[in-house]
Amino acid sequence: QKRVTILGVPFLHATKEETVDVLTRRIEENKQTQVVTANPEIVMLGRQSASYMELLKRSQVVTPDGIGVVLASRWIGQPLPERVAGYELLHALMVQANTYRWKYVLVGASPESCAGAAEKLKEQYPHACCSGHFDGYFSQEEEKQILEHIRRERPHLLFVALGAPRQEEWIARHMPELPVNLAMGVGGSLDVISG
Ligand code: UDP
Repeated sequence: QKRVTILGVPFLHATKEETVDVLTRRIEENKQTQVVTANPEIVMLGRQSASYMELLKRSQVVTPDGIGVVLASRWIGQPLPERVAGYELLHALMVQANTYRWKYVLVGASPESCAGAAEKLKEQYPHACCSGHFDGYFSQEEEKQILEHIRRERPHLLFVALGAPRQEEWIARHMPELPVNLAMGVGGSLDVISG
């Protein structure tokens, strides 16, 4: 799959639909994928921190979350087809989860937002299976329990709303020991979904 590197960050050259296809195939092939929907803020975080840049380079799929990134790709003569934003990708993956009856877990946001988002997603995607939701204000002890729960449940999808860069770092730190196919930081999306 073609990539376009902007300020050191390798973006997947794909439309939203193609991105969903790539991710669905990787899930079916039982591959592990960390997805970063990188807006200009995330690109700049990568410029400021070598370890975060390493994380972005190691992530299997990085999408252009914002017109700024798409414009930058045009300026360097390697245009990315379109914006692939986190909120939209979350919903597009939930459509797949509903079709293929995937399991998903939510981690992050306030207790109200997290529970509210779980309720809304259960209503909207009734055939997808929510196998747990945990707010983002957890102690170390609670974090252990969250990780243990994920290990037991083996969800296809893990959505993490702790804000950038923390959500990407949390995923990168724990994903190698977690039986999840795809993990993605979703920023404020759970707040938006819960309404
Ligand atoms: N958050 C959290 N735990 C924290 C800090 C933040 O769960 O310790 C949540 C916060 O409630 C919000 C999300 O992380 O739901 C971050 O949203 P924000 O809009 O700041 O992220 P962005 O979209 O800008 O990356």
